[in-house]
Amino acid sequence: MRYLIDTVRAMIVTMRNVFRPPTTVQYPAEDRVRPERYRTSFALVHDEGGDEACIACLACERICPSRIITVKPAGKRESPVTGKKRNYLEDFTLDLNACIFCELCVQVCPTDAIIMLRELAKPELSREGLFLTMERLYANEKIAHSWGSGSKLMSMQDPKRGLPAPEPKAEAPPQGAEPVPEGSS
Ligand code: SF4
Ligand code: SF4
Repeated sequence: MRYLIDTVRAMIVTMRNVFRPPTTVQYPAEDRVRPERYRTSFALVHDEGGDEACIACLACERICPSRIITVKPAGKRESPVTGKKRNYLEDFTLDLNACIFCELCVQVCPTDAIIMLRELAKPELSREGLFLTMERLYANEKIAHSWGSGSKLMSMQDPKRGLPAPEPKAEAPPQGAEPVPEGSS
C-alpha cells in the first residue's frame, strides 16, 4: 500500500511539471538577455571624445595573476581630440586561454579602457582563436559591455573614493573638566 501511495505522489509531481512552461530556451536559435554583471571576453574601448582610452600604463599587465596581458607602449604623442600629449598603445594582446576571469585588469584600469563583454563567447576550435590581438579587442567594442568598469569597480570597493576627506571632529572636553587656557601645557 505504501508503494502505491508513493507512486501516485510521484506521478502527481511529474504531471504538475509536464504542464509548467519551460524554463529553458533552444540555444543558439534563441538566446537569453545576459545579466548585467555577466562577463566573458574582453574589449578595448574609446573614450567619449572618440580617442583611444588606453594610455599604456601597464597596470593591467602587472596585476594579471595569469600573466597573459602584454602591453607595448608607443610613447607620447599629441591627441587628435584634445591636442594634449598623452601615451598611446603600440600593441596589446590578451591570451584568453589562461584567463581566470578575476576582472582585476578591469578594476585597476585608470581610464576604463578595458572592459569585459556581456555576451556568450563563441566556441573556438583552436587555441589561436582565444588569443585576442589589439585589432580583435577594439572590434569587440561593439559587443554589449558587462557592468564592470575600472571606476565602477573601484567605487564599489571604496564608496568614499574621490570624495573629499571628512573634517576632523573637535574633541569634546571631559564632563566637569576646567577649560585649559591657551598657551599652557
Ligand atoms: S580577468 Fe584576471 S586573469 Fe583574466 S586577463 Fe584580467 S587580470 Fe588576467
Ligand atoms: S588597458 Fe587600462 S590598465 Fe591596461 S594599459 Fe591600458 S590604460 Fe593601463
